[in-house]
Amino acid sequence: MSSQKLSSITNSIIIKSLLLLIISMLVIVTVGTYFFTQKQMKTTLQLSHDTNETQLLQLANTVNNEMEQFASRLTLLAKTSEIQSMDQFTAAGYLKSYNISSLFISGESISLYDRNYNLICNNSMLGSAKITYPIEFDRISPHRPTISPWYRDTDGTPKRAFGVVVSDRAHGDGRLISNFSIRRLWKYFSEYKVGQNGILIACNGQGEILYHPDMRTWLNGVHKLSELGLDDMNIKQDHDNNIRFLTLGDSSTYLINKTFNPSYDLGLIALQPKSEIDEMVASVKHIGRIILYCSIIAILLVSLWQILIVCKPLNKLIDHISQITEGNLDIEEFKAKSSQDEIGRLAKVFNQMHATIKRQIQELNKHRDLLEVEVKERTYELEQANRKLDIISRTDELTQLPNRRDMHKTIEREVERANRLKRAFSMIFIDIDHFKDVNDTYGHAAGDAVLKSVASTIRGLLRKYDVLARYGGEEFLTLLPETEQKDAALVAERFRKQIQNQTIFFGDQEIKVTITLGVAQYDSKLGAERCIQLADKALYTGKENGRNRVIIWDGDHAVESSPA
Ligand code: GH3
Ligand code: MG
Ligand code: MG
Repeated sequence: MSSQKLSSITNSIIIKSLLLLIISMLVIVTVGTYFFTQKQMKTTLQLSHDTNETQLLQLANTVNNEMEQFASRLTLLAKTSEIQSMDQFTAAGYLKSYNISSLFISGESISLYDRNYNLICNNSMLGSAKITYPIEFDRISPHRPTISPWYRDTDGTPKRAFGVVVSDRAHGDGRLISNFSIRRLWKYFSEYKVGQNGILIACNGQGEILYHPDMRTWLNGVHKLSELGLDDMNIKQDHDNNIRFLTLGDSSTYLINKTFNPSYDLGLIALQPKSEIDEMVASVKHIGRIILYCSIIAILLVSLWQILIVCKPLNKLIDHISQITEGNLDIEEFKAKSSQDEIGRLAKVFNQMHATIKRQIQELNKHRDLLEVEVKERTYELEQANRKLDIISRTDELTQLPNRRDMHKTIEREVERANRLKRAFSMIFIDIDHFKDVNDTYGHAAGDAVLKSVASTIRGLLRKYDVLARYGGEEFLTLLPETEQKDAALVAERFRKQIQNQTIFFGDQEIKVTITLGVAQYDSKLGAERCIQLADKALYTGKENGRNRVIIWDGDHAVESSPA
């Protein structure tokens, strides 16, 4: 990932918001799921406890009913005429009859005693076989059945003796005693289910086990709860609502529910393995985890969707705008996936802005091009005008020759060149003789025509690199580069002759003029100004000597040039 992309991600408000949202949602979902799971775990546990409690109370009810029914049956039996007859044969016959004997299960017996507590009869098929009951006959209440503690007789099965008074006003009250075998309750105990694999244990107030699913081990002789590891079990305490776990001798932990009925001295203990509860709790946790994972996936998917529909198109739009900002106005218009959402509307407005800018820039460019053409034209015209002005400023209007100022510049350049190359150059000063008379005689216009004609003639005789300038009114100065004085004198002579021989026509006038010429050679020791002065001086000498002649300034004096 490029650093630019990374920084665009770390700087994105949307991505920051999404991250914050993801973190908040994750915290909320995690904490929520945690508390939900904890709550569900408690609920599950409480539910197991309460279910066991309810079922156990129902069982206790059933068991109590069974014992109460037994007691009421015995009470009713004591009131029958057969029993009340207190007659050995009548009572024995009745007790052994099918109707009565079928009420008793194996190991149970019923015995009738006279007022001296001597056995009258019992339901034993062995006749008056001796059966003892751990009950004090004196204490048997005439109002309700008296019950002995749990005991074991010869068959080792836990039993309780129920004793009732048989009223016999004539002979004195007898006693009807029967024992109630725990076997009556076993079917309820064995059918009873504690969770999937739980255990039900029945005991008496002394902690003696009266029932255990593993009968062979725990009902073979007298066994106590403590042997199972239920030491600290206060069975006599009716029941507590606290959820309790207990680890037994088999090192398994159980959820415990118990109930105790003091009137029947019967305690019931339900042991549900903790592993079963743990399994239920694990499934709750599993559901919690599924909710958590689904929430995380949903949050991530929503975030991803947000990034795809918001961040990505926005970044594309930013790139698009950047390109336009960098000057790429010809870029195609931005295409948003949906024209209805915010990005679509933003793109639409931006595209309109892009089109407007493009149109305005095109118009501006058109104006600029026109302006450039105009500026070019104006600049050209100005340059032309300047050039003309320059030429005008350097040119004499009448003769179209370079003027005096321009001639001085030309001389400066030539002086530089001559000094550098160690070359000579000469100057010829020219003055029209008696020009004032021409003006006076033929008029000023004629004078002008003469000036033009002389200029033109002399120019026609020059080499292309020689320069002729109008130096003053009817004075001309000629610069002859790389020309020594004697050669310059020859050139001057040629000028003089040509002018002398030439006739100037002005209207119907024929005008003839002569010129006087002064020649001087440039000497670096003298300088250009002095050279001009010397040529002028030579010219002056020529005028003095009669005009129409060439005078050379040679050394210290002016000398007339010998015509070629
Ligand atoms: P010299 O032989 O001694 O040179 O006599 P000159 O008459 O030529 O000299 P002078 O200096 O006395 O006269 C020059 C005359 O040239 C005076 C002036 O009016 C005339 N002149 C100067 N410039 C022009 C011009 O452009 N056109 C005309 N027509 N005359 C001009
Ligand atoms: Mg003059
Ligand atoms: Mg003159």
